[in-house]
Amino acid sequence: MTVAATNWAGNITFGAERFHEPGSVDELRRIVAGSRSVRILGTGHSFNAIADTTGDLVSVAGLPRVIEPDERAGTVTVSAGMRFGELAGVLDRAGFALHNLGSLPHISVAGACATGTHGSGVANGCLATAVRAVELVTADGALVTIDRDAAEFPGAVVALGALGAVTRLTLDVVPAFEVRQWVYEGLPTAVLRERFDEIMAAAYSVSLFTGWRTDRIDQVWLKQRGGPDAPGTWLGAVLADGPRHPVPGCPPEPCTPQLGVPGRWHARLPHFRPDFTPSSGDELQSEYFVARADAVAAFDALDAVRDRISPALQIGEIRTVAADALWLSPAYERDCVAYHFTWHPDAAAVAEAVRTVEEALSPFAARPHWGKVFTTAPEVIRESYPRWDDFRTLLGEFDPAGTFRNEFIARHFPAT
Ligand SMILES: Cc1cc2nc3c(=O)[nH]c(=O)nc-3n(C[C@H](O)[C@H](O)[C@H](O)COP(=O)(O)OP(=O)(O)OC[C@H]3O[C@@H](n4cnc5c(N)ncnc54)[C@H](O)[C@@H]3O)c2cc1C
Repeated sequence: MTVAATNWAGNITFGAERFHEPGSVDELRRIVAGSRSVRILGTGHSFNAIADTTGDLVSVAGLPRVIEPDERAGTVTVSAGMRFGELAGVLDRAGFALHNLGSLPHISVAGACATGTHGSGVANGCLATAVRAVELVTADGALVTIDRDAAEFPGAVVALGALGAVTRLTLDVVPAFEVRQWVYEGLPTAVLRERFDEIMAAAYSVSLFTGWRTDRIDQVWLKQRGGPDAPGTWLGAVLADGPRHPVPGCPPEPCTPQLGVPGRWHARLPHFRPDFTPSSGDELQSEYFVARADAVAAFDALDAVRDRISPALQIGEIRTVAADALWLSPAYERDCVAYHFTWHPDAAAVAEAVRTVEEALSPFAARPHWGKVFTTAPEVIRESYPRWDDFRTLLGEFDPAGTFRNEFIARHFPAT
């Protein structure tokens, strides 16, 4: 059996009694229908126990590979376990693109959509906003398709793996495009405070990297769709004179090309290349979403406690995510700024730093990333999701016996 025993970060050892890797949807249906407790695993890149189970852990990576572009509909239908890296190359060769990608192409489409995974860009929704239909195996082994017209659709896309085993997704595509990536260094935080919206809208996708140690943002990554060459200085920041890695001390080779060299969308929108270990590779991560209107106040709140955050931190990242209508999306009905933290893999130090961040962001009804380390109380999270009750109702309808209900789901959505 090739299903991994731990998540990518190695901080979660799966508690499953049995591991499965079905080779067909029918085999998956039999496994699900015969299980009392089952969870589906994507590529295991989440940092908490969201994918874990004490029963059957099923990888969908072995299901028949599907990539079916439909030019007339403007969609592509893909198998759930497909990694973005593989999908993107095929789509691009067919003349299509996805509207955005996360920082790494290694993750599965279904796993990314299930947790509301996102990239950056003021006009770009999370990756799940591209979903037009979801096909899934429900607890009784039935194969159902939920498309955008269905009443339950907004609850069934960012669904934390709790409604069933997703087998295929149909995604919106756009015409393929080119991107140029530029990196600036040393943006004064005083300028960021004054011109936050302008800076985050300065390119198709903008990421700010900060170690929360000084009064400057370490790096600003601008992913431009075309456009002129970037000037040598910008708002007090200086154009980098060579390729950079966002994590201090890491060589730049794992990163996508910079210095304005034009490239395909999928070779620039992620920060990391598919054939390398992404990020530092030895880390934990947390991330919190606040309303864009609170961006500067939230920045100030974090800056005020930076001496308590920075010792545990490898690097922090600030991105934007456009509002959407998906009930459990961290960007549900609010344009967001996402404050991300790549921690050193020291559980005790991370726990302390996470508490500090959560306390600092508590005035802003911050929503934690579902796939990262957080300790925000379930009742606090519930308050920030207006459709929380509707999702719980959906859970009762799709999975009345709680077959997909692991400890994570039970904690956040207790059975009625
Ligand atoms: C180095 C690194 C960089 C990252 N960068 C970003 C980033 O830029 N932006 C961001 O938002 N996040 C980021 N993440 C977090 C990551 O995108 C999410 O945790 C994502 O959910 C991982 O996808 P996965 O395929 O590994 O899913 P898993 O971690 O395997 O699973 C996540 C959830 O999806 C469910 N699931 C997976 N497949 C299915 C299926 N077929 N049917 C039903 N449920 C399913 C699981 O049960 C689980 O609940 C990063 C993580 C790492 C390790």
